[in-house]
Amino acid sequence: MRIAVGGIMHESNTFNHRPTPLEAFRVQRGDELVSWWRDTPHEAGGFIAGAERFGYELFPTLMAQATPGGTVTREALEGLTRELLDRLARAPQLDGLLLALHGAMASELHSDADGEVIRRLREQVGADFPLVVTHDFHANVSQQVVELSTALIIYKSYPHLDHRERGLQAASVIARTIKGEIKPVQALVKPPMLLNIVHQNTNVPPMDRVMAAARALEKQPAIVAASVAGGYQYADVPELGPAAVVVTDGAPALAQQGARQLADRLWSIRERLQFKLPDVARAVREASASDRAPVILVDMGDNIGGGSSGDSTFILHELLRQGVTGWVVVLADPEAVAACARAGVGAALRLAVGGKRDSLHGQPVAVSGRVKCLHDGRYEENEVRHDGQRYHDQGLTALLELGDPPAERASYLLLTSRRQTPFSLQQLLSVGLQPARQRALVVKAAIAYRAAYETIAGAIIEIDSPGLTAVNPARFRYRRAPALWGLPASANTEEGKYDKPH
Ligand SMILES: [Zn+2]
Repeated sequence: MRIAVGGIMHESNTFNHRPTPLEAFRVQRGDELVSWWRDTPHEAGGFIAGAERFGYELFPTLMAQATPGGTVTREALEGLTRELLDRLARAPQLDGLLLALHGAMASELHSDADGEVIRRLREQVGADFPLVVTHDFHANVSQQVVELSTALIIYKSYPHLDHRERGLQAASVIARTIKGEIKPVQALVKPPMLLNIVHQNTNVPPMDRVMAAARALEKQPAIVAASVAGGYQYADVPELGPAAVVVTDGAPALAQQGARQLADRLWSIRERLQFKLPDVARAVREASASDRAPVILVDMGDNIGGGSSGDSTFILHELLRQGVTGWVVVLADPEAVAACARAGVGAALRLAVGGKRDSLHGQPVAVSGRVKCLHDGRYEENEVRHDGQRYHDQGLTALLELGDPPAERASYLLLTSRRQTPFSLQQLLSVGLQPARQRALVVKAAIAYRAAYETIAGAIIEIDSPGLTAVNPARFRYRRAPALWGLPASANTEEGKYDKPH
């Protein structure tokens, strides 16, 4: 039994007008795919581990991933899909394919780019070829993916900590299918609602109970997999919204009934999905007054993992305006990094940081400080964290100690060359910071950072900050999304462009 493994993963924020090109993808091919992913908690690690556990030979194709950002360019989707198809065409006799797709990838031509990849695959490999697909919890699951895949398995956690387990589950499903032990059939049901990202934490109510219901269904002998996806609200696409997918062994009515049951459960919690978060000024006042350090200030409007710029200055500006000290802010700002590198370690300088990528994330802020250190930006995370990655690279990085001279309790700006999601404390530890001893840490995220930061947090303040990932859907105009509960009624009727935050 020989099984190909691969993946093309991107979460596309269609409100971000900066497209994601081919160069933005990090790609591992062939044997490198295996060495890169084997020891990670990612689903690709699960696909690889499945070879030994379920007795198949691996045929690694390619694994491509890019940081969430704007819509994938036509060339990028075409290039990656074509390479995947070519590698499969040149492979020795294959019995199946395990494919990791995010589930919220949109390209310039296809709102359901994941479905397009599978459609092209099916054209090449035929209707009966076993093709088991995994999705991120933030998938906007499409009918096309469910119809054209043999089985679809979705992460059950947010923060995402079960990638590898899902990869192994997919590996088990494909091995049993090939051996003729099961005949997967699946059904998709989508409740007509928006499940706001604020409420998607699967460790707390109401989502913990919904996920428990999915797990309980999976214990039934005829049910192969039962998944719930939370959906991804920053994509103005017809597929927008949460979903329930149930895979059974040859029982279509049971699949439909199970998916309906989970979708009804989502629908039944909708009235509990209210949110009222402080604005930036109030949140900074609360952090400053808190005696529970470190306070995590969550910049939800600049959630890098949701596809925003990573250089929003609204919170930085407010921290300086209110005279708060003892904080760390991370900004993606290659120009500022270059200025620090030119000045050198120990040098004092004045510069304007952040607010440079677009007009939606505040103005550049003038700061003065001393270059505490320069770092190549590479670090390794050996704990199980949200993104399932082990090796990180945020590009050349500068740590700037603020103040002239620095305040008694120093504040720091960590300036990175690339946008980097805050899913690992190693991002701060690797440059010598002691995050647990700071008064406040600003994270540009929504929920995912919790797996790392809850280990040290004194308090957490989620902020309704402006930006490309603002949590209030009324800040956006949707044009292609369906009418959903929780999406403002006017939102899906007008021209679909992001409006300036108001
Ligand atoms: Zn996700």
